[in-house]
Amino acid sequence: MIAESTASASAIPGDVCGEILKQCRAILEDHRLNHVSRWKDAHPGQLAIGHMPIYAPRVLLEALDVLPVAVFGGGEEVDIIRGDSYFQSYICHIPRSTVELGLGGELSVLDGMLFPSICDVIRNLGGMWKLLFPEKYSAYVDLPQNFDPTIGGRFYAHELGKIAGELAQRGATPYEPDRLRAAMALENRRRRAIAQLDDLRRREPWRCPASEAYLLLRAGGSLPIEEHLDLLDRFIQAAPQRHARPRDNVRVVLVGAFCEQAPLELIRALEQAGCDIVDDDFQLGLRMIDGDLDLDAPDPLQALAMGFVEHGQATASRYIGDDVKGAALIEKVRQSSADGVIFAAASFCDPALLDQPMLERALHAAGIPQTSFKYAENTGQFQVIREQAGAFSDAVKLWGAAG
Ligand code: SF4
Repeated sequence: MIAESTASASAIPGDVCGEILKQCRAILEDHRLNHVSRWKDAHPGQLAIGHMPIYAPRVLLEALDVLPVAVFGGGEEVDIIRGDSYFQSYICHIPRSTVELGLGGELSVLDGMLFPSICDVIRNLGGMWKLLFPEKYSAYVDLPQNFDPTIGGRFYAHELGKIAGELAQRGATPYEPDRLRAAMALENRRRRAIAQLDDLRRREPWRCPASEAYLLLRAGGSLPIEEHLDLLDRFIQAAPQRHARPRDNVRVVLVGAFCEQAPLELIRALEQAGCDIVDDDFQLGLRMIDGDLDLDAPDPLQALAMGFVEHGQATASRYIGDDVKGAALIEKVRQSSADGVIFAAASFCDPALLDQPMLERALHAAGIPQTSFKYAENTGQFQVIREQAGAFSDAVKLWGAAG
């Protein structure tokens, strides 16, 4: 049985939230990055630099007056014609659609790309990008997996300094510690706003369904931070006044979707199947570092590096040292009072799918219900997933566990 529910809070005349969501949806659908072109027209000479998910040092770019632009692949709209010929068939979809966008000129407004070290696929994509677009800036961001401040912290601060220097040679504002501190202060404000949004989602998911929170955060991937903060602040202020009724849904944490994104309609299908997604890792890049970046440190570049080294969230592409696999996920489930977990990973996503059995085992030991499915960014049929999520929701409601 699939629960009767509507995923969105209803729009009312002059609905502030509805207007903001419309704007965010337009950004999601803007594959040609026209909004980035408009930003560049308004800021002559300034650079826009793309980056692949999950995490990239966006704050550093902002401090150099560079617009960071998260590139999430082609989604549902882009037909892959040339992209397929660059990769073997048994890998995820996002590198193919990103190459397709690049070769089709859709990313030509970007002055360069950062490829954070999430997985081998992104490493290969970064190498290919250099060959395909030699005139553009391209850097592989080797994120540390050693979390000793004197090793990983020092290494990453050095990498950040190198990127700053290379971008300055391409026309970015040269690095200055005070400018970085100011950018970090803004980033701290954004993370507090996102925490408020998350809090609203957990308390009253019917007023801010995951599909809407998704749109809001996704827009932040390519908007100047001040504009994104304005959208977040206005939404958070207006959402409690929306007309919406609580639904008889189960509360779930969704995990595994940190890179190639699920289609928005798939997120809605889960909601329609009776699942309130009260936590997820869709836009992990904007939440990757827990807590505030240290604004009082003598060297802000080192402080930015230490934010990642000491406060980076546990995720599949990050080594967790002596910590216990699954402990962070169980903590998330408890903090969000979730009833269960949905593993939703992109097909062939090595980091997510290699992590999953360890996380499943930890959930099983803790008695937390779980289900799993795979998707591709261009998955068009959601009926099977919707039925599976509906059955999961019913099983959790009836027995407190999935069958
Ligand atoms: S979806 Fe997974 S395997 Fe594919 S590029 Fe992203 S992290 Fe790597």
